[in-house]
Amino acid sequence: MADGKRADLHTHTNRSDGVLEPVELIAKAARARLVAIAVTDHDTTAAIDDAVDAGRDLGIEVVAGIEVSTRTGNREIHLLGLFIDPNADVLAELSERQRRWRRERAEVLVERAIHLGLDIDLERVDAIAAGAPIGRPHLAQVLLDAGNVRSTQDAFDRYLGIGRPCWVAKQMIDTREAIAAIHLAGGAAVVAHPGSSRVRDKLLGELAAAGLDGVEVVHPRHPARRRHLVRGLCEKLGLLPSGGSDYHGPGRGDSRLGDHSISMGWCEELRRRAKRHQAASSAC
Ligand code: AMP
Ligand code: ZN
Ligand code: FE
Ligand code: FE
Repeated sequence: MADGKRADLHTHTNRSDGVLEPVELIAKAARARLVAIAVTDHDTTAAIDDAVDAGRDLGIEVVAGIEVSTRTGNREIHLLGLFIDPNADVLAELSERQRRWRRERAEVLVERAIHLGLDIDLERVDAIAAGAPIGRPHLAQVLLDAGNVRSTQDAFDRYLGIGRPCWVAKQMIDTREAIAAIHLAGGAAVVAHPGSSRVRDKLLGELAAAGLDGVEVVHPRHPARRRHLVRGLCEKLGLLPSGGSDYHGPGRGDSRLGDHSISMGWCEELRRRAKRHQAASSAC
């Protein structure tokens, strides 16, 4: 690495389904000697103001972000918005809609879980989520607290994972609509953890044509071979590379803050791209 300065552009706090307070996450990032960290909670920007304040105090740049769950056909695509205006009206509307859909999914999921004989109810789910958009990790936590499962991972393996008995699809914003919303909010739109799907390449091509700015090359679920393949796709499609740890806090997954970082060079390219969207959205 040229100058050793590293950024992590994908992390979560307890304002969505992570476990750390925004200020705790930023303090940990500073201790990991990151120069910049993007806070990208699921379908909310509620952590950004606190995180930016903490970053100012601790001398680390906090990039305002969001991770939007989106849909293209019957595929779920996670879209990161980086360098966004966290207070943009367009994001407030998007977040409110996604929050409602997440709660509706939770209602169906809880009914199904009760039908299976599990000890769970919506009141406890709401209490665990504490105002955050409800995610499956919150449901996993309730199942764990009531002794239904041995760990949150066990909850996903037995009940909540795709194809398991409590799997319920949620409604999600269309991917192209989310790209446009991120641009209006002055951010760069980046496909998160594109995975190993055979249709990935075709889909990324279509989304690039629809204005997508970048794609995650670096992610804990990307082995070296996939990083190499996605990097090649970036070149081919004119997409900017990004990456991060997808850190959700201690005890949630095995990814650590500071691992899966990217160079500040990649971060600056994304910032430049976002500035173009900012200029375009302030002109209209
Ligand atoms: P949701 O947005 O409610 O569908 O939940 C997605 C979140 O659940 C992800 O961001 C992860 O934090 C977590 N998650 C998804 N799949 C798994 C899994 N198989 N094991 C553990 N956690 C998972
Ligand atoms: Zn998550
Ligand atoms: Fe994701
Ligand atoms: Fe994530």
